[in-house]
This record gives sequence, structure tokens and C-alpha cells, in this order.
Amino acid sequence: MPRPSRLIALTDAVAPRRRRFLGQAGALLAAFTLTPRLGWAQGAAFVAVRAWPAEDYTRITLEANQPLHFEYQFVPDPDRLVIDLPGMSVDAVLKGLPSKITPEDPYIQGVRVGQFRPDVVRVVIDLKQKAEPQIFTLDPVAQYRYRLVIDVYPTTPRDPIQALLADLGNKRAPSPPVAAAPQLSETPDLPPATSPPPRAKGTPAKARASASAPYVVVIDPGHGGEDPGAIGRFGSREKDVTLAVARRLKRILDAQPNLRCALTRNDDYFVPLGERVRRARAAQADLFVSIHADAVVGSDARGSSVYVLSDRGASSTTARWLANKENEADLIGGVNLGSKNEHVAKTLLDLSLTATMQDSAKLGRYLLSSLGEINPLHKRDIEYANFAVLRNPDVPAVLIETAFISNPLEERRLTDPDYQERLAQAIYKGLQRYLEATSPTPRLLMAARDGKG
Ligand SMILES: [Zn+2]
Repeated sequence: MPRPSRLIALTDAVAPRRRRFLGQAGALLAAFTLTPRLGWAQGAAFVAVRAWPAEDYTRITLEANQPLHFEYQFVPDPDRLVIDLPGMSVDAVLKGLPSKITPEDPYIQGVRVGQFRPDVVRVVIDLKQKAEPQIFTLDPVAQYRYRLVIDVYPTTPRDPIQALLADLGNKRAPSPPVAAAPQLSETPDLPPATSPPPRAKGTPAKARASASAPYVVVIDPGHGGEDPGAIGRFGSREKDVTLAVARRLKRILDAQPNLRCALTRNDDYFVPLGERVRRARAAQADLFVSIHADAVVGSDARGSSVYVLSDRGASSTTARWLANKENEADLIGGVNLGSKNEHVAKTLLDLSLTATMQDSAKLGRYLLSSLGEINPLHKRDIEYANFAVLRNPDVPAVLIETAFISNPLEERRLTDPDYQERLAQAIYKGLQRYLEATSPTPRLLMAARDGKG
């Protein structure tokens, strides 16, 4: 028999006027009588609150020690989102939320929290413009407990694809319209006008918009926002290292006459893996480089690694383990399963990757050798594994594990701006050598044709 005090708590929790909140709590009720320690609304507390403003959307995350339930409504004039959380009380953690909103936030004016009813917390998000929020819950994963995620998207979305293209500047000549391949027409998420059809097997290089157009290199700084990636012994976060190296690399690449660089994210926010692939395709990437920093249990492992996609299993246990870990980014960073983006990677899965994979391997070897000039290599050759972010049918793609953030020596180097610059230079060198070795229109030829040689 449950103890009377708990019965009282339960009776209170299922009072009829609040029944609409209690889909999950009903299931908990059954568990409760069997497991007296598993309570709902008793001892429920917030453990963290976070805000991630970005140009695309702002995310607010509420994290609690028990599953969060919610109801929300949009209220106009002035525009605001009202979110009620039954079974919760305003506590010191939640009181910290308003101060997490910065004046620069593109979408959120401010946040207010209050005890709407004795057992219902109300969070009011005052908006700077009309918004279409995606609100969803996430079960515990990695270092996180139960999360409620509030993604505030503008009603008229800032198109990240357009932003990427604008980012590429006018150096890239507009490409002629390309008919979408049959496979791609079934993927409404991909803009057909900007998605080149999958390359035929054995074609030496992707058809280019024009011989003088610069190569577009899409750099993908791993992780971001809710997903910190690996964390070093001194507290360095992989997501910060990857962004720092990517930004340096972008500066170097954009300074070259034959190259243009776009980043899949240029701030500390979460981008799902499928969305990274989609952005690379929309930017008509010629090459795709995802940047990461390894971590393993123990502090001895060291050195740089370069990975390419394998659809036939991984080249080593470590490679398989690592790919699984990197592919967890969506779980940790948190995607709304009701949204459209996460289907993209799956759709691209079936397309032929063979020719691209050969180019990826070639690119990977050039990068491995240039990285070997500044850092020991973890393995002598590139490795293969099933990384979701590399699943792109016609763009040679590699994933670089710059070094081991779990190795204290390498962690220090990874956070050193000088070393980050050396890493960026080494990656640039590898890219340039690959392009010189494989391009049908080498740099000098291109310059001559443009009348500059
Ligand atoms: Zn990573």
C-alpha cells in the first residue's frame, strides 16, 4: 500500500481541471503505486535553463529532474508565447531564465516566469516579431535530464539557404537551372533549383557552373548549442574548438581567388545533421569538410584522424564507435521529431555514393598528409565509418578529428589560437592540393582563361 502522504499528492495531481495535461502522468500513476519512490509533482524541480539565440532561430531549453508537461498558446498584441508547466514551481533555477535573454536576441524581447496557479508555472516569452514556435520534450540523454525545448522560429523564416548563398557573395556566377533528378524530386525539403542531380558513376568531377566560378567549400563546425560535443579535462568544449577552427579556415579560403567558403553554422547553436547536409547541397558545395575533436576514455590517445563515409561498415572498432557517437548529435542537440528536417539524411541514404566516396577518400588522404605536417597522426591512413553528416550523394565529404580533446596536451593545443590557425592552414593546404591534383581546370589555366594569367 502506498503511504497516505503520497496518496494525497496523487489525488491533487489528477484533479479534473488539470486532467488535460496528464497524458504521460497517467502512465506514471500506474508506476507510482508499484514504485513509491517514483513521484510526479513531488520533488519536481528545474535543474537548468538555457537560451541559444541565433540568426535562424532562438532556442530556450528548460531542464528538469522529471518529465515536463506543457500547454502553450500564442497571444497577440503584444505578441507573446504563453507556456504553462503543470506540476512545477518557480524555483531559483527558473528565476535565472529572464537574465539569459540578451538584448541582441533576434526574436525574443524578454521572458517572464511566475506561479500561475499553486502547481502551474507560467513562462511568458515576449516576442520581437510573430513567431512559429516548435515546442517539444526530450528524454534524458548524455549529460541531460528531461528537457523541454522551445524553438522560436520567425513566421517569415530567414531562409538559411539564401543566407548561405548570400554568404558566398557574387564571386560565384549564377548557375543555369538544373533539372531535378527523379530521386530528388521526391525530397521536397531540397530546393530543386539549387540541387544538382546526383553525379553519374565515374564522372571525374561535379559539373561546374562555369570554369571560372570559384570552388565552394562548405565547412561544418561539429556540434553546437545544446550539443557541446566532447568535453576535455580542463572543460574545453568540442563545439567551441570546431567553430574557432572553422571561422579561421573560412577567412583563409575566402581570401583565395578560386575558393569560396560557407559555414553550416557560424554561431553557438544547434543544427541537425540532416540540415547540415541540406545546407551543403543548397550552397552547391564542391567539397564538404566537417570539423571535430575526438574524445576517448583515458587520456593517452592522440593525433589527427580523417574519416570518410562507408556504407559497408567501419574500418575499425574505434571508427564505428566514433561514428555512433557523432551520429548521436541529433539526440543530444535535440530535434523535433515532428519537424521536416530529420528526414533529409534518410532520403539521401539510398542514392548512389560510390563515385563520390572515391573522391572523398582522395580528399581525405590529402588532408591527412597536410595535417601530418603539424600534428602526429592517429592512424597512418584515412578511416571509414557511417557518419550521417557525410551522406551526400555528389559532394566529396570528409570528417576531420583534428586532435583528441580528451588528451590534456592536445586539449591545450586545440584551445590555443595559434594552433587553431595552424590547423586551419593545414586543412586549407590539403584542400588546395586536392583541387590542384584533381581539378579539370587547374588554377593557372582558369586564370589564363579569365585573362588574368
Ligand atoms: Zn564531434
